[in-house]
Amino acid sequence: MKLLVIGGGGREHALVWKLKQSPRVEKLWCVPGNGGIAAQAECIAADPGDVAALVALAEKFCPDLTVVGPELPLVNGLTDAFRQRAWPIVGPSKLAAQLEGSKIFSKEFLLRHKIPTAKLYGSYDSAKDAYAALERVAWPVVIKADGLCAGKGVFLASRQSDAKDFIERVMEQGELGAGGKRILLEAALEGEELSFMILTDGERYAPLVPTRDHKRVFDGNEGPNTGGMGAYSSDDLLPHQLREAIVSNILEPTLRGLAADGIRYQGFLYIGLMLTKSGPVVLEFNCRLGDPETQAIVPRMDFDLAEVLSDVAEGKLQPSKLKWKPGASVCVVLCSGGYPGKFATGKPIDGLTAINQNSGVVVFHAGTRLQGSGIVTNGGRVLGVTAIGPSLDAALAPVYSAVKGIKFDGMHFRKDIGASHSKLTAAGD
Ligand code: AMP
Repeated sequence: MKLLVIGGGGREHALVWKLKQSPRVEKLWCVPGNGGIAAQAECIAADPGDVAALVALAEKFCPDLTVVGPELPLVNGLTDAFRQRAWPIVGPSKLAAQLEGSKIFSKEFLLRHKIPTAKLYGSYDSAKDAYAALERVAWPVVIKADGLCAGKGVFLASRQSDAKDFIERVMEQGELGAGGKRILLEAALEGEELSFMILTDGERYAPLVPTRDHKRVFDGNEGPNTGGMGAYSSDDLLPHQLREAIVSNILEPTLRGLAADGIRYQGFLYIGLMLTKSGPVVLEFNCRLGDPETQAIVPRMDFDLAEVLSDVAEGKLQPSKLKWKPGASVCVVLCSGGYPGKFATGKPIDGLTAINQNSGVVVFHAGTRLQGSGIVTNGGRVLGVTAIGPSLDAALAPVYSAVKGIKFDGMHFRKDIGASHSKLTAAGD
């Protein structure tokens, strides 16, 4: 098989790394890829959000299968363009991707199908109406910009003045671009968060191993939100009863709802949940795999990913093929100093070649590029250092030991990935 992978972050490196291990795969291209992906795939410089450019590339390369990592090509209709031409691709259609591309679409979907979600106060396309609605909400309130906002579109406001300030920046000053033209206001939920991801061909589905990511930049969940500072997966993350509740109250109604709305969803579906006192509640849908959750999930895959994804593209997923290595996994993200604010790039990275191959540690590249014979930083999240083990502690030890050997100017990482594990499993009980 010749495969085309779209994206250039840590998630795509993990996918490429796994796909490369398949005996079926003879050629891999990645658009645009990064400094680490370049060791396993031919990287092509193109904009992953540009559907016409990707169609032109696929016309030239004729891949047997295309796998889409990020949300932007999906929301822009890449899979529709490929399916019209009968080119095999894994990913939901433009309409299905609205579950992520529009918070209002997704909220209306959840309400229409009676799937547990935070109470909606209203959705607004004028700042004036949104300010007026603030008089009628309970505090704290959650404000969500409707469109894709690179993780900056959600704000939890404890006070009216903070809420007004956010709405003004988003709706009047256009700080988040077109994604902030409309907003919704919803009730704030309390609890622990959990990500639940599945792979589906629109009829059958297979859950992936449960994961948890760490969004805040500093230890102890302090500081601003990031794209994700690390993630872990562990067999005991999801107690049996909680899994049952998620499947019967959330996942299956979601799949039934999609079918009832005439949407055949093919690809990965990410459900962001809050484990509240009254049960799991949907915070968000993503129409693709999480990053860095994927870097924790992929090393636990005990199956041929190329074969399974090919099945999905053909609408013939066999859930029993998805076998998993037991135990746990962890991914610690190494960031540029200053991230998620301003940061410098082009810093040489030392220590990558010295990682002990026998330690089981795999380093997935995110914001890196090749410069001469070396690798330099090229983004906020730079590397994801990953390992699996029979237990969470057994996976954590080699990861943090390997991190000690990697250096670049300004490097920052969290030292407490996985530390909230016992709290989360208690919330699940
Ligand atoms: P979303 O993109 O909708 O998942 O929101 C990003 C983050 O904002 C979530 O991971 C939560 O930490 C937080 N969040 C979103 N909605 C709510 C809510 N209704 N109550 C509390 N926190 C929320």
